[in-house]
Amino acid sequence: MKKFICVLLPIILVILVTIYFVFSNSKEITLKKLNYNSEAISKINDFDIYDIVVKEKYSKTLEMSLLSDEFNSKYVNDYIKINYVDSINFIEYVNKLLDIGYSYIEINMIHDKLENDSIKYILENNYIDNLEQYLSLVYFKSENLVRYIDYSKKNNSDVVDTVTYVNMDLDYDFYTNIKEVEKPDDLLVTVNKYNQLPSDYEPSNLVLIDSSCSTGNNYIRSEAKIPFETLCNDIKKEGLFVKAMSTYRSYKTQNSIYNGYVNRNGVEEADTYSARPGHSEHQTGLAIDVMNNTTSYTNFGSTKEYKWMQENAHKYGFILSYPSDKVSITGYVSEPWHYRYVGVELATYLHENNLTLDEYMARQV
Ligand SMILES: [Zn+2]
Repeated sequence: MKKFICVLLPIILVILVTIYFVFSNSKEITLKKLNYNSEAISKINDFDIYDIVVKEKYSKTLEMSLLSDEFNSKYVNDYIKINYVDSINFIEYVNKLLDIGYSYIEINMIHDKLENDSIKYILENNYIDNLEQYLSLVYFKSENLVRYIDYSKKNNSDVVDTVTYVNMDLDYDFYTNIKEVEKPDDLLVTVNKYNQLPSDYEPSNLVLIDSSCSTGNNYIRSEAKIPFETLCNDIKKEGLFVKAMSTYRSYKTQNSIYNGYVNRNGVEEADTYSARPGHSEHQTGLAIDVMNNTTSYTNFGSTKEYKWMQENAHKYGFILSYPSDKVSITGYVSEPWHYRYVGVELATYLHENNLTLDEYMARQV
């Protein structure tokens, strides 16, 4: 019996000590299992936030905040849900963003979508209540953030319009911040008051439109020839008539046309209906001014042919470039006669969504 006690007692003692150890250190073990380091664990105990922390997965943001001098216990629940970003001042920024009123969801989006300069702008300003909406748009551009905010304040525009229009540079005056087009041969090339073709650009595949569908010699890029001639032949079947009256124009031709208008009406008025050289869609070889055979092209908007074009042009790949409801964004008065070839699929999409090509391009990533 004595021998038995001698053997058993130490075993019982070891078990008891182990149980004591396990229970007294269970918090620490749990936190260790979650992946927190010892220093963070002791801070979790110091700040008495174990019950909150243990319910959630490991959070590097929480750990780093505990190890910094910036930890603020009222933000524990937020730290836990904020994705950690390995950058200096991260915890300081997170605290400031929480102070301003941003939620953990918004803060995650801010770090995910914004570059440093834009984050600094956010930190220096009041809470932006539709920031989440801005950041959710796939075509939101971090570098444009300040411009978006300014534009929406000035124009009281919604988020989608704001981002679209600023991406189009519409917050700048027309003919300022002009960029030279990089891919002039692209079928979807954007040529407008901010995007200029090189003065020596001429499409390499210009072809003549069949004389039955044209007045005089009108050249167009080969992609658009058959679609336009098919349109022209199909409308004839309806007893109507559409022909091309002005298509490709060189930089030089546009220069003399534009300057002629300037001499007659002055720059300001000329700019509302004529493109400056390099800024004309006609230089792309993808634009066609049309007319019927009974009235001048400037009256085209009141013809049956125009009505037919409104309903059918997209089926042939053509869109109206300067519609009456888009004057403020195109910078041109309504031009019912001016069509641009973009291909059937995109023309149909633009037609169905009432978008100009420029609006569409501003929403591409
Ligand atoms: Zn035109």
